[in-house]
Amino acid sequence: MHLTEGLRRARDGQGDAVAVVFGEQRWTWSQFGDRVARLASVFRAHGAGAGDRIAMLGHSSHRYLEYYYAALWSGGVICPMNTRHSLPELLYQAADSAPAVLIVDDAFAHLAEPIRQALPDLKLVLYAGDAAAPAGMLSYEDELARAPTCVDAERGHDDLACLFYTGGTTGRAKGVMLSHANLLASIRSHMTASGPTPPPASLHAGPLFHLAAGSRVFSTTLTGGRHIVLPAFAPADVLRTIARERVTAATFVPTMLAMVMRHPEFDAHDLSSLELISYGASPMPETLLREAIRRFPNARFAQSYGMTETSPLVARLGPEDHQPDGPTSHRLRSAGRPAPGVEVRIVDAEDRVLPVGEVGEIIARGPNVMLGYWRKPEQSAAAMRGGWMHTGDAGRFDADGYLYVVDRTKDMIISGGENIYSTEVENALLQHPDVAQCAVIAVPHATWGEAVHAVILPREGADLDADALIAHCRSLIAGYKCPRSIEFRNDGLPLSSVNKVDKAKLREPFWNTQGRQVS
Ligand code: ATP
Ligand code: MG
Repeated sequence: MHLTEGLRRARDGQGDAVAVVFGEQRWTWSQFGDRVARLASVFRAHGAGAGDRIAMLGHSSHRYLEYYYAALWSGGVICPMNTRHSLPELLYQAADSAPAVLIVDDAFAHLAEPIRQALPDLKLVLYAGDAAAPAGMLSYEDELARAPTCVDAERGHDDLACLFYTGGTTGRAKGVMLSHANLLASIRSHMTASGPTPPPASLHAGPLFHLAAGSRVFSTTLTGGRHIVLPAFAPADVLRTIARERVTAATFVPTMLAMVMRHPEFDAHDLSSLELISYGASPMPETLLREAIRRFPNARFAQSYGMTETSPLVARLGPEDHQPDGPTSHRLRSAGRPAPGVEVRIVDAEDRVLPVGEVGEIIARGPNVMLGYWRKPEQSAAAMRGGWMHTGDAGRFDADGYLYVVDRTKDMIISGGENIYSTEVENALLQHPDVAQCAVIAVPHATWGEAVHAVILPREGADLDADALIAHCRSLIAGYKCPRSIEFRNDGLPLSSVNKVDKAKLREPFWNTQGRQVS
């Protein structure tokens, strides 16, 4: 089975149903399928062959979905570029992935030339905007209108389908090679865990260059749902679109959910259509989750834990485990149980399995684990040693088989020989009513090696005091885990390209690039 099978099924079985909504425009499955098959023949006509990377640099749009499916339909590889990258980072990603085709939208058309110069073998640059194509590029719409349709290349199950780059949270983003089989395994595992659900009206509010949104595209198509695409994440647009399009399913990174819920327009819209809110990609603070459960009384919640390297699902916390009260309420802090078909273990530094309850590295094995990192054989072998994907996340299991992700190993703070999990301190801080968002990082300390430092975004109008906040933490967690220093920021926390808190940036002023103290 191929990722394009869902598209063929929807096109043939429900051709007149709405497939894609973008702003005021909408396309049926037969129109969408037709445009995909034409775009694929444009790629082929310009010499893009089996396994060639097709790069896309642009904001999310209806064309982004066409691009996804046309890349596969033509026998090529989806290779989305991160729109939040600087030019040197884009040039790195372009040279690393060496695409045969580059598609740019209006916002990025001016970067096509410098990128092209880094790619001597590039065969085609398509301009996916509504104006006339700039010099040196062909118009996406004109080429598509002229091209014949073609049949699906239907490459092998285990062939490379996508080259998604990781979030770049802990360093330079890595290209992750995923096959059709990898992604389909993850989607199937998700469907098995969630049970039968009606075809969703699915809101894509996060960037489509990231796998979290990408995998949602494939699963929505496979279930015959409808895609509602936002060009960029903006809380007011999210609220208005949910109400206008009667969105039934949406996926958020926790920071996005916080921004949506705290937007002044929140109460002005009818959000009752929203049946399922999925979240993941970074730790979900318990206070935020409780607030969401309260504020979306009609919605069910599901958490996904995973990573680009695992297509992405590793574990899932289903709606039945989102009980804010009662004997299972502690599960709100858990990432759920291993997804069907995925094995998960907790190991020590020598890869020895640890007993239930002990914290170690989370490793995973299953048909969803990547083929490897693109052109990085040593890093691939290290990450997948012994046939297990080493996540770089620290976690533990409880006696009921629920997984708790306690921190990224790179975000853990080791102070005076004690391990402190930044997320545990953050959860304590967030229980203070005047803390809107926070991030806890390690800063250098002459005696203990590292000390706990908190960066706080106060709630609007709050008058917060560092000593009172530290005292608040002391009432909840052990003294050695409490922040030694606190910094207030009214302008928000720095976010990564996919809206995760960028702790590397917060650490920067305290540590130099070698990881040593700045004197
Ligand atoms: P990079 O690998 O480039 O540093 P990244 O790890 O952020 O970036 P992704 O593949 O997008 O790239 O993210 C996967 C990581 O996100 C996981 O390893 C984990 O640290 C975090 N994560 C994902 N889901 C959850 C979750 N439900 N709870 C806690 N953390 C999560
Ligand atoms: Mg990672």
